[in-house]
Amino acid sequence: MDMLLYIGLTILVFVLMEPITWATHRYVMHGFLWSLHRDHHEPNHSKLEKNDWFAFIFSIPSMLCFYFGHMRENPWYYCLGTGILLYGIAYFFVHDIIIHQRVKWFTRSKNRYIRQLRWAHKMHHKHLGPENGESFGFLYVEKKYRAKIKRDDDLNNNSAQRQ
Ligand SMILES: [Zn+2]
Ligand SMILES: [Zn+2]
Repeated sequence: MDMLLYIGLTILVFVLMEPITWATHRYVMHGFLWSLHRDHHEPNHSKLEKNDWFAFIFSIPSMLCFYFGHMRENPWYYCLGTGILLYGIAYFFVHDIIIHQRVKWFTRSKNRYIRQLRWAHKMHHKHLGPENGESFGFLYVEKKYRAKIKRDDDLNNNSAQRQ
């Protein structure tokens, strides 16, 4: 029974990481740590960005959870640590591989969710400065960006039918 609770908490932490990351991106990365995030908003990213420091910074809370879980022999810390770690992996996969294609996988994917993710994040990168941003989330795509992809698909379907 405990196992189910552990898995449930891990999933809950994973889900909660999206709004937490949204707020961190909105208020910290576009706030007082803009100096580290700025080069990610420049049109030509270099191979390694200052922005990559965030991957390291964000791994600290997860590492601390595993440390405390071990020291205090408390499994709840492991759930917390695992939820954060899994989100970090998903984030890297979606943001760095699928969206920015730092590794050339899925580059031609027509999958609707992948196209939604790319469009939403493209709208985020449209803004080169820290202010007036939009679309700060990562795994969850807001409705207006999903709607735009749906409109594109509907248009394509209609023109395909007419031919
Ligand atoms: Zn940003
Ligand atoms: Zn980006």
